[in-house]
Amino acid sequence: MTKNMPFFGSITDWEEIMRLRHIPGSEDEIKKSTWVYQSPEETQKSIKDPLFIEIGMGKGRFIIDNAFSYPDINFIGIEMYESVMVKATRRLDALPREEQPKNLHFVRMDARDIKEYFPPESVDRIYLNFSDPWSKTRHAHRRLPSALFLNRFNSILKTGSTIEFKTDNLGLFEFALEEYEKAGFTLIYKTYDLHADEEAMKSNIMTEYEEKFSAKGNKICKYIICKTGSADNVLTVQS
Ligand code: SAM
Repeated sequence: MTKNMPFFGSITDWEEIMRLRHIPGSEDEIKKSTWVYQSPEETQKSIKDPLFIEIGMGKGRFIIDNAFSYPDINFIGIEMYESVMVKATRRLDALPREEQPKNLHFVRMDARDIKEYFPPESVDRIYLNFSDPWSKTRHAHRRLPSALFLNRFNSILKTGSTIEFKTDNLGLFEFALEEYEKAGFTLIYKTYDLHADEEAMKSNIMTEYEEKFSAKGNKICKYIICKTGSADNVLTVQS
C-alpha cells in the first residue's frame, strides 16, 4: 500500500486506504445530511458571496475552523469519499444547534466535475491542502495542482482571486511550481518552510495532515497563486 519513491517521498495509495476504511452507511448519511448540497443545481442556487472553497477537505478540520474564525465568509468543503466526509458532518451534528456554523456546507464530488457545480467567476478563494501526490507519472493528471485541474479552477474563480496550496511533499510542490503558469496564474507567495514564516503563521489555520506531518519534523511548503497579478511580488522563504 505504501511505497518509497525518490523525490515524492513516502507515497500512500489513497484509494486503497479508502476501500479499507469504508464506513458502512456513510453514503446514505451523506445523502441525507443537511450540511451537504446534493446536486450541481442545489449548489448553484445556494452559493453566496464571498465564497471560499477547499478541494479535498478530508475530515474537514481546516474548513470547519475557518468557518468559525470567519463568520462573514461562506465556505464549501469538497471531498470525493463519503467515508471521509461523514467525519465532518458527524462533528457538526454533535454541536448544540446554536453553536453550529451557518456559513459552511459540503459537496461530495470528484473535483474533475467542479465546473458543473460552480458558475464561472463565482469563487473568491480555493484552498488545496495536502493534495494526494499521485507519484506515478501516468497518474499526474489526477494531481489537483496540475495545469489540467488548475484550468478548471481558473474558470470558476473571480479575476484577482487566489489559490492557496500547502503540502509537505517536495516532489508535488516542485511539480506544482511548474504547472501554475500554464493555467494562467501568477505566483504571489512561495515558501519551503511555512512554519518558519512568522508573518504567514499569524493567520495560518492548520489542517489534519499539516499537524501530523509537521509534528514529525516535515517542513510545510506553501504557494499562493493569483488569477491575475504581478509576478514582481514573489516572496520566498528558503531553508
Ligand atoms: N485537506 C486535508 C488535510 O490537509 O488534512 C486532507 C488531505 S488528504 C491527503 C487529501 C483528500 O483529498 C482526501 O480526503 C481525498 O479523498 C481528497 N481528494 C483527492 N482527490 C480529489 C478529487 N479529485 N476530488 C475531491 N476530493 C479529492
